[in-house]
Amino acid sequence: MKCPYCDSVKTRVIDTSHSARGIRRRRECSACKRRFSTMERAILTTPLVVKKDDRREEFNREKLLSGLRTACTRRPISADDLERLVDRVESQIRELGKTEIPSRVIGDLTVAELEEMDPVSYIRYGIVYLGLDDLEAVRAEIDRLLRERDGAA
Ligand SMILES: [Zn+2]
Repeated sequence: MKCPYCDSVKTRVIDTSHSARGIRRRRECSACKRRFSTMERAILTTPLVVKKDDRREEFNREKLLSGLRTACTRRPISADDLERLVDRVESQIRELGKTEIPSRVIGDLTVAELEEMDPVSYIRYGIVYLGLDDLEAVRAEIDRLLRERDGAA
């Protein structure tokens, strides 16, 4: 760690404190004796995804995006909207601070974001990815959306 005053690389830590934002260190330069603080942030890494059959795989942004593109075909949703949606999902799973998460969590977060963005795409996505694979389940979900919409109006 370089001293911000004299550029000396000889500094020592005189105090360390932890906060939600990271690790704060109070340092003293061994050359000019001036003191300064640094903040170290943890680098949040994306957890591994645990699939239903217990296999682990890397979080695959492209795969998530391509599923969403299919669900949103011919809906008024731009490629940027979808990129941002995936960004939000990715940052939410990072913020969980876990090394592994079940794939279901990603599905749930994605669906929650999509439901807010466009109910029609949400239903399409649900049919393919959430196993809303019988008409009753799909109808129940559509009924719920309509109730929410009418309730909110
Ligand atoms: Zn210095």
